[in-house]
Amino acid sequence: MYDALTTSYRLSCPRHGETSVRLSRFRRLDELPGPHHPAVYRIVFACGCGEEHPGLVPHDELDLAPLGLEEERSFVNLMTSHVDPLAVELTELAAQRIKAGEWPWSFYCWPEDRPRPVFPSAFRLLTESGPAGRVGVAVCCPACGRVSVNLVSREHVDLPFHNDREIGVLPYVFPADAGRMLEEFRAELDSGSFDARRLSLD
Ligand SMILES: [Zn+2]
Ligand SMILES: [Zn+2]
Repeated sequence: MYDALTTSYRLSCPRHGETSVRLSRFRRLDELPGPHHPAVYRIVFACGCGEEHPGLVPHDELDLAPLGLEEERSFVNLMTSHVDPLAVELTELAAQRIKAGEWPWSFYCWPEDRPRPVFPSAFRLLTESGPAGRVGVAVCCPACGRVSVNLVSREHVDLPFHNDREIGVLPYVFPADAGRMLEEFRAELDSGSFDARRLSLD
């Protein structure tokens, strides 16, 4: 489902069949309720055909496939600093970089006033914003559980280990409930004043 060469997901368009979608074209992510292993995310993406479509993306495809990791087991190994000897080169590269303190994705948590490492499954809402191809992204902080909105480059979202040095942050804590979050997200992105924050994690 994830194609590392084009850094995009293969998803289905009712008009054109299979289509290639980068993470920055995702618009909304919600974890499906109920026991799924791995967890499954219901997403909405902005398709090249001009419409938005729903899709389903399993957790491992969302967070780990862009790093060349296929299974949650490898992920656990990463977190405990043990690298599976059979892991592919990309996996080892990703592992080395994570151990060296580089994180594939990061964001600025407004209520905590600090940058945090994050995975794409923490993204809740995304939208294109402004003429410069910037992306507004609402992120649910894995550490404090609160929602912040950052304004970043497309590459910041699409490419693992590409972290913008400086990003925009909306100086508000967003409501965690999805409906209200979406409303405020749209209103604030249109009118919002972003504070600049540096994203260095060291
Ligand atoms: Zn389409
Ligand atoms: Zn936080």
